[in-house]
Amino acid sequence: MKAVKLYKAGDLRVEDVPIPEPLNNEVLVRVKAVGVCGSDIPRILYIGAHKERITVGHEFAGEIVSVGKDIKDWRVGDRVVVPPLIPCYQCNSCLRGEYSLCSDYDYFGSRRDGAMAEYVTVPEANLLRLPENVSYEVGAMTDPAANAWHALWRSKLEPGEDMVVFGVGPIGMFALQAAKLEGARNVIAVDIVAGKLQTAKQLGVDHVINTAKTSVVETTMEILGKEPEVAIDFTGVPSVQAEAIATVGRHGRVVFLGISHKGLNLLEEQVDKILRYELTITGSWNSFSQPFPGREWIKSIELFAAGKLIAEPIITHRFCLDEAPEVFRRIKEGSIEHNKIMFLP
Ligand SMILES: [Zn+2]
Ligand SMILES: [Zn+2]
Repeated sequence: MKAVKLYKAGDLRVEDVPIPEPLNNEVLVRVKAVGVCGSDIPRILYIGAHKERITVGHEFAGEIVSVGKDIKDWRVGDRVVVPPLIPCYQCNSCLRGEYSLCSDYDYFGSRRDGAMAEYVTVPEANLLRLPENVSYEVGAMTDPAANAWHALWRSKLEPGEDMVVFGVGPIGMFALQAAKLEGARNVIAVDIVAGKLQTAKQLGVDHVINTAKTSVVETTMEILGKEPEVAIDFTGVPSVQAEAIATVGRHGRVVFLGISHKGLNLLEEQVDKILRYELTITGSWNSFSQPFPGREWIKSIELFAAGKLIAEPIITHRFCLDEAPEVFRRIKEGSIEHNKIMFLP
């Protein structure tokens, strides 16, 4: 079968490898769609994975083509979505049901072979049923959607509150829809790419702010006539993280989801504000809760099936596996303006 292998940072190759054999508690999945995650880009281009020559890719959906000896509830032909985390189920976090915080986990596409391949083996505990009326491509968007729900619930958004979404990549696009579904009054999307803001409008955001043109704090005040209760940063850009803090009002909640790999300098007035306004600044990591993989995943799939959570406009590109090295070369040189990139093996 074909597989996209990361030898080391910047060295991605498409290879012919043997089709893997499922263990007794695993199934073999024919991958139908696999998305490029924001985390894949630094992993593939600059940082590398935990193992050399790993098959990348962790946001995927496909069809079961064979099952291990101990599998009873799944059959050949079943359509599935696969959460990428394989928790240890034994550490303190796992015992509390906080699987995102597991201290000894396995992970598709970074620690074990992933889904940018024609086939991948999957443990039974990681199988979720993909409804007939949800396409494989949309199924492969469950991971970013589940991440959005996790961040939104971390924010403790209440119905009637206002929220600002900083950065409308795929997770931000789902977060703004999730906030509206949870009863947010006004949701404002902030980005520097006009095309993404256009898509955010199509997905039901109330207002957009293009920060290439205007300041978020002032424009938000003009739009709402008050400060928003919640701001979530999906960019991981330090200046934007600081802006999220500057934007919220008294008892405001700020969630950081975007990974920055950088320090953060705050102005004196921003630090003062954290105290005086009694702000809550919270991290959000991954997408899991109890029972594994959690309500983030179940809710996303149900809402896809009900047509209430919309994924298609977020997918901007579709490629075959052979094109992967070239696609990542174009991402590196910045010659591809993309939101979700999907590979169809
Ligand atoms: Zn991901
Ligand atoms: Zn664990």
